[in-house]
Amino acid sequence: SSDEESGEEYLFKIVIIGDSAVGKSNLLSRYARNEFNMHSKATIGVEFQTQVMEIDNKEVKAQIWDTAGQERFRAVTSAYYRGAVGALIVYDISRRSTFESIARWLDELKTHSDTTVAMMLVGNKCDLENIRAVSVEEGTTLAEAEGLFFMETSALDSTNVKKAFEIVIREIYNNVS
Ligand code: GDP
Ligand code: MG
Repeated sequence: SSDEESGEEYLFKIVIIGDSAVGKSNLLSRYARNEFNMHSKATIGVEFQTQVMEIDNKEVKAQIWDTAGQERFRAVTSAYYRGAVGALIVYDISRRSTFESIARWLDELKTHSDTTVAMMLVGNKCDLENIRAVSVEEGTTLAEAEGLFFMETSALDSTNVKKAFEIVIREIYNNVS
């Protein structure tokens, strides 16, 4: 392929962070495998999934990491963040406490990263409009204040899931190319 000829290869590490049960694992399984699990338990063993997309006729691989549930114990390790150039910081629009945790997750991310990280604030479970506890405007305002992209998603009905990941991947590509 032209990639091999030009010797250009891109591999980007992206991490997904946020409180327990906001839908991190389901966002990844929806994006990588088009799967959703209503009763998902903390996934054990699967550290990351790799997705390939094409930008400017170049093959770009995104290695997307999932926490495997350790966020419940406040013990997401520095190894998890090491080398990450992109991040999805996720809350659940139906649980206000998960939105209030975003500042702490941002702090942790910034503490552990030594390069420019493309960051997307994600308000997941937007299908739960009837029990919404965080307005779209609050999400937008926080994202603008912190310099993050912002999107509301639903891993359940697929709203904006692909878009959220692809915006981050394109931004990383723009940062490095
Ligand atoms: P994690 O702990 O952040 O990885 O969250 P999970 O992906 O395990 O999801 C926690 C729970 O929320 C599971 O019961 C999922 O089925 C549910 N869930 C995840 N995403 C959505 C969504 O977009 N909408 C709704 N209604 N439920 C979701
Ligand atoms: Mg999980």
